Amino acid sequence: MMKLVLVLENTELIMVSVDSLRTLKCKKCGTMFKYPKRLERHQEIAHNKKTEKCRACGSEFHTTENLRKHKKICKERV
Ligand SMILES: [Zn+2]
Ligand SMILES: [Zn+2]
Repeated sequence: MMKLVLVLENTELIMVSVDSLRTLKCKKCGTMFKYPKRLERHQEIAHNKKTEKCRACGSEFHTTENLRKHKKICKERV
């Protein structure tokens, strides 16, 4: 029998299986999450999907920090 637990996701009470709580793991970096939505959000932020783009040369970066560093070099080149 699958054991179910209630968890509070934002303001919503949702029913999830105990097993799903254990298996919410990011495949790319191994970080564990309690809620499906958090894992989704983590994957958006930490990996692919959303990227920052340099307007000058079109290079893409996964974090704003990397883009910021690149912009310094990029400006020197132009
Ligand atoms: Zn990850
Ligand atoms: Zn650039």
